[in-house]
Amino acid sequence: DLLVVGSANADLVIGVERRPGAGETVLGSDLAVHPGGKGANQAVAAARLGARTALLARVGDDAHGRLLLDAQRAAGVDTAGVLVGGAPTGVALITVDPSGDNSIVVSPGANGRLTPDDVRAAGGLVQASRVVSAQLEIPLETVVEVVRNLPPGSRFVLNPSPPRPLPSEVLAACDPLIVNEHEAKVILGESSAGDTPEQWARLLLAKGPRSVVVTLGAEGSLVASAQAVARVPSVKVAAVDTTGAGDAFTAALAWRLGTGSSLEEAAAYASRVGAAAVTKQGAQDSFPTAQEVEAL
Ligand code: ADP
Repeated sequence: DLLVVGSANADLVIGVERRPGAGETVLGSDLAVHPGGKGANQAVAAARLGARTALLARVGDDAHGRLLLDAQRAAGVDTAGVLVGGAPTGVALITVDPSGDNSIVVSPGANGRLTPDDVRAAGGLVQASRVVSAQLEIPLETVVEVVRNLPPGSRFVLNPSPPRPLPSEVLAACDPLIVNEHEAKVILGESSAGDTPEQWARLLLAKGPRSVVVTLGAEGSLVASAQAVARVPSVKVAAVDTTGAGDAFTAALAWRLGTGSSLEEAAAYASRVGAAAVTKQGAQDSFPTAQEVEAL
């Protein structure tokens, strides 16, 4: 069973001809509201593949929180661990210009109020999990508390996004740490990061994780542990929108690890899930079922 600990955001998207300057107002398209946030995305991605999935997160007692809960339940996620109240639901205000470039303001809201106490109170949920997957859109001390509560024999997967330097206690628990190029460089410190994914992986392993996965977009990924380093190819698809691909990849990988797959096997499956996710618009709307992954 997979437990995702992380963020839930409402993505509020408006298309604009151009961004407003200070003091200026521009008119945009109709508002689109989508469920998002890395934690919520991962939970939906795993559940849609057929994984038994629970989410530990916090939303506000408001319409955005209800939208997020509805999306989780529709995908089949166990939402008993989704706490309600304390602050408004996290929101991402997104403007998209005609070239497709985004400008985003995030209000973490309730995500910032998911506390170490909440993790302790959800002890049963954590203890019942074979794999726990987290990201960094919640307070770091909450992630630290998750690591301290992992049951023996379980596996911890971390996508450190948005990236920041990590305490060794967290790094040592990761199996794997999943990073893209930007995240790898922030965690290593830009100047000492090396030039190739193989170098990033080797340098990251030296910081304590039992394994590392570097995702490389259309180039696929690289998996690394003390035993072996291997490239995992991507699946060639016509990319429409890469939003959520990393979340789908991570969720699929975490689930497959929990079913006993090797890291390389799990990454190969996750590549197909990530590829399927880029063939459709949006984040949660773009995540495939197991049958759709087979058909790819
Ligand atoms: P992030 O969004 O975290 O930067 P990536 O863009 O590297 O993550 O995507 C995660 C994974 O999804 C990749 O390792 C790859 O397997 C798959 N993927 C992403 N973009 C594409 C693409 N254009 N074509 C095929 N697969 C892709």
